[in-house]
Amino acid sequence: MYHLLGLRPVVNALGIYTDIGGSRPSQRVWSAMERANAQFVSIPELLDRTGVLIASKIGAPAARVTPGASAGIAMATAACMVGDNLRLAERLPDTTGIPSRVLIQRRHRYKYDRMIRLAGAELVEVGNVNGTDAEELAEAVDENTAALFVPAHLDGVEGTVSLEAVADVAHERGIPVVVDAAYLNFPVDLIGSFGRRGADLTVLSAKYFGGPNTGGVLYGRQDLVDAVAGVDFTRFEAGKHLPFGRAYKLDRQLIVGVVTALVEWLEMDHDKRFADYRRLVEIVDGHLVGIDGIVTCPVSFTMDERVVPEPVNGLRVRPDEDGVAERVARRLSERDPAILVHVIDEAVIVDVECVDDDEAHLIGAGLREELSCEKQRP
Ligand SMILES: *Cc1c(COP(=O)(O)O)cnc(C)c1O
Repeated sequence: MYHLLGLRPVVNALGIYTDIGGSRPSQRVWSAMERANAQFVSIPELLDRTGVLIASKIGAPAARVTPGASAGIAMATAACMVGDNLRLAERLPDTTGIPSRVLIQRRHRYKYDRMIRLAGAELVEVGNVNGTDAEELAEAVDENTAALFVPAHLDGVEGTVSLEAVADVAHERGIPVVVDAAYLNFPVDLIGSFGRRGADLTVLSAKYFGGPNTGGVLYGRQDLVDAVAGVDFTRFEAGKHLPFGRAYKLDRQLIVGVVTALVEWLEMDHDKRFADYRRLVEIVDGHLVGIDGIVTCPVSFTMDERVVPEPVNGLRVRPDEDGVAERVARRLSERDPAILVHVIDEAVIVDVECVDDDEAHLIGAGLREELSCEKQRP
């Protein structure tokens, strides 16, 4: 199909990125999705039951599948604003007369915080570029405040109030805390930890645990997860109300795929996963033996796009000469299939998390050819 459309398929040595399709669900997840496709089922009941299953698996009071972490942020915000009031859920994103301020620390501003505004909430920045303290946060809370928001990957950034302290400020005033923990799923105990640390609703993205790219999970307080169920797409056609979340629709296959992927992730032998990455890195590296003018090194390419030593999920290839990595990466990207790699600090970074054995050989051979033809340049 891709070629019919004039597209070149991609060998993904970048990692999990939505613009190239996100993750690659396992055969087990894919088969479960296929079986879900074969039969119809009540979607509200499927969401309720899978929610109970997820909650029990991660040790949370309640949970629910969402169409991704971004949608999860929008729906969590809506739930914090309207609670179980379905008449209000219908009015969103018009928030006239509804508490709708969501507070975020200045140094916690990040790409996805705009999802808070989708439900009609006002995103209110507290503090300044130098930081925010708990007192400023407390003073910013008023009777129009619906929630406090924390991106978990920025928790602990210098000058910011910790999740626990944010939760203290919020809970003293009866206000919930919403946390984006989209990719904080390993070690697996981390998943449920945000609730124990004070989050009332936590959103995760399924793209980071081998689920479908358009899936996610939120978990937390029972009443707030129930409120999410009230504002989401279910019962729009059959119920009495027309809630805001209709656009955040889910297929039954997607719901089943997210749950299956999450269970698989929780039960997975992660030592084996990392051993597999090492093996794939060695396959790529094996193709580069004997090429002059490069240094290769197994590395870890992190979720926040840094290169560190451990745990290994990639290969760093540093040509002696500046500019070579950039040219090699460009030529690899022009191939069919396109081979996409990172270039960081004059080195090619190959991330093997979304790569199989055949692709590892393609990447290694491609790198070898392109590096060798660099050497023949005058
Ligand atoms: C990818 C990502 C999201 C969005 O998740 P989707 O499931 O793709 O909507 C939100 N926050 C962070 C930190 C992410 O990396």
